[in-house]
Amino acid sequence: MSAMDAQAFEITVLVKRGYAAFAPCADRMSAFRLIMNKYLSPPFPATRLRRLRKNSALRDMFRETNLAKNDFVFPLFIVEGNNIKREIGSMPNIFQMSVDAAVKECEELLKLGIKAVILFGIPEHKDETGSGAYNENGIVQKALRAIKKSFPEMLVITDVCLCEYTSHGHCGVVENEDVQNDATLELLAKEALSHAECGADIIAPSDMMDGRIGKFGRHWTKMVLIKRRLWLIR
Ligand SMILES: [Zn+2]
Repeated sequence: MSAMDAQAFEITVLVKRGYAAFAPCADRMSAFRLIMNKYLSPPFPATRLRRLRKNSALRDMFRETNLAKNDFVFPLFIVEGNNIKREIGSMPNIFQMSVDAAVKECEELLKLGIKAVILFGIPEHKDETGSGAYNENGIVQKALRAIKKSFPEMLVITDVCLCEYTSHGHCGVVENEDVQNDATLELLAKEALSHAECGADIIAPSDMMDGRIGKFGRHWTKMVLIKRRLWLIR
């Protein structure tokens, strides 16, 4: 009898004696799970998880994910100009906004209890290398500074990618009709660093280039020195 079988046997005896609760130490967890599966979660057809979805009271009781205002991040699409709030046709109730309008929107969001936004930049000028993404006066950089100045408590996340800023719309530099992964990493790191310098709390890369997290990591000390408690999500 293996050690795990022996432990499983021991727990089985306890179950049969009617013990309802156990406090297994860590090294017995696998045996404990084995026995719990046998007694409490036997496979189909005995276990039918659809029973837990039978009505809304049951679903409310057993659902593992509950969304509250604290979980929401509001997307802001920032454009150049003043006093612009333009609805995006394919996304009802979501708007392109100039920096001043975005700041007003943040005030409204905080009043509603929504404490996080994610910024996407829509620059006026696009070029082959997406330079607007890492320009210190780029549209996201301006929005970051303005929002953080008015509402330092607002958690500001930034999308890190080049596709919004390149004339060809690809997420990186294109040469010989192909996206150049490694050349793009340099530019993404510059973009992330620039966002950190302007006050981003979290940077959220969406570019799909290989190795970009490692690349950011090499700039990480510098970024964290600029902005303590900077987080990266992916
Ligand atoms: Zn992209």
